[in-house]
Amino acid sequence: MIENQTIGTSHNSPSGAGGKRIAIFGSTGSIGTQALDVIAANPDIFSAEVLTAHHNDELLVQQALRFNPNVIVIGDEKKYGKVKEALSATDIKVFAGEKALEEVAAMDCYDLMLAAIVGYAGLRPTLNAIESGKAIALANKETLVVAGDIIMRKAVENRVPVIPVDSEHSAIFQCLVGETRNRIEKIILTASGGPFLGRKPNYLVNVRREHALQHPNWAMGAKITIDSATLMNKGLEMIEARWLFNLRPEQIQVVIHPQSIIHSMVQFEDGSIKAQMGLPDMKLPIQYALAFPKRIKNDFPRFDFRKVSTLSFEEPDVKTFRNLALAQEALIRGGNLPCVMNAANEIAVYAFLKNRINFLDMTSAIEQTMQNIPFIEKPTLEEYFDSDGEARNFAADLIKL
Ligand code: NAD
Ligand code: MG
Repeated sequence: MIENQTIGTSHNSPSGAGGKRIAIFGSTGSIGTQALDVIAANPDIFSAEVLTAHHNDELLVQQALRFNPNVIVIGDEKKYGKVKEALSATDIKVFAGEKALEEVAAMDCYDLMLAAIVGYAGLRPTLNAIESGKAIALANKETLVVAGDIIMRKAVENRVPVIPVDSEHSAIFQCLVGETRNRIEKIILTASGGPFLGRKPNYLVNVRREHALQHPNWAMGAKITIDSATLMNKGLEMIEARWLFNLRPEQIQVVIHPQSIIHSMVQFEDGSIKAQMGLPDMKLPIQYALAFPKRIKNDFPRFDFRKVSTLSFEEPDVKTFRNLALAQEALIRGGNLPCVMNAANEIAVYAFLKNRINFLDMTSAIEQTMQNIPFIEKPTLEEYFDSDGEARNFAADLIKL
C-alpha cells in the first residue's frame, strides 16, 4: 500500500547531514543495524534517507526517530497504523507492504541502496533500484543466486555499480582495485567451516536449531547463520562471485579457514596471490561499500599478527556438507537451477528453524527439488519468478509445511 501523497526529493535533515544519501532495505537486520552504526559515526559523509523493515515496527520507529529519513516502509501492512501514529509528529513518509518496497526503491530521494533484505524478497526492490539508476551495495546474495545474469546485465545497461558487502566478495573487490588490465586465474573464497567443522553425518543428524545458530566467528541473521552451518552459504557465495566478477565456475575455489582472518584471495595469471585480511567484523565491508572508492578512518579493533600463532587452511568436506556439492552443481549447470536451489533452501531453512525437519533433511529437500523442477537453460525474468514459486511449492509439499 503506498499512500496517496507526492513523493518529494528535498528533505531537510535537522542534523544538517549531507553527503551520500543511503537507502537501507532491511534496516532492522544484522547488516542494516551495523550500517546505521557506520552512518551514525560519519554524519558528514552519509545520511539515511530510506529505512525498511518486515515485521519489527518498534525498531524501525526507533531508527526513524533517530535518523530522520525521508521515507520508511513497514512490510507488514497490519502494522502501518501503529507506525504512522508513532511518527505523527515528524514529516517522515510512511508506507507499507511489498509493493511499496518496490515503489520506494525507484524513488529519487536517495543515491545508493544497501540491499540488506534477506532472501528472494530482496530481488524485486534491488532490480527496481538498478533500473532507476541507483548504485547498489549488495549484501543480499540471494538476488545474484536467483537471477545473476539479468541483474548484472541490467546493472551494465543502467551504468550502475554493484559493490559487494559480503565479506568474501568485498575482499576480492578490494584485491582487484588497480588490476583492471590483469586477468584473474582464480579466486579463493575462504569459509570458516561454521560450528560443525570436522563433524560427520551421524553427529549432524541430531543437531538442533540452537546448536546451529551458534556461529564461532560472526553474529548474523538466523537464515545466513544456518546457511553457514550447512555450508550452503559458501555455495551461494560461489554463485554470487561468478556473477559479480564474471568468472567461469572452475575459477572459483573454496578453502576452509577457521580463523576468518583472510576474507578471500585473488590469484592472477602470474601466480601472484593477493589477500584481504582483518578481524571478522561486517562493519568494515559495509563501510567500504558505502564509501567506495574512499576508505574512511575508524576505530574498529585491529588485527594483531603477534597475538595469533596460526592461520590454517583445509579442503571442505563436501561428502558431509552436501549442500556445498549441490551448489557447485547448480553453479556449473546454471540456468534456473541456482534459483530452484535457493528457493528450496529458503523453505528448508525455515522448516529447520521451526524444528519441523532435522539438519540433514534440509539437504534431501533441496536435492529432490533440484531434481524435479524442469530445467530451463536461459530463463527470462518471469521464468525465474515462476521457477522460484514452483520450487517453493515443491519443497513445502515435500516437507509437509
Ligand atoms: P536479518 O535476518 O538479520 O535481517 C533481514 C532484514 O530483512 C530485516 O530488516 C528484515 O526486516 C528484512 N526482511 C526479512 N524478510 C523480508 C521480506 N520478506 N520482505 C522485506 N523485508 C524483509 O539478515 P542479515 O543477516 O542482516 O542478512 C541480510 C542479507 O545480507 C542476507 O542476504 C545475507 O545473506 C547477507 N549477508 C549478511 C551477513 C551478516 O553478517 N549478517 C554477511 C554477509 C551477507
Ligand atoms: Mg560471506
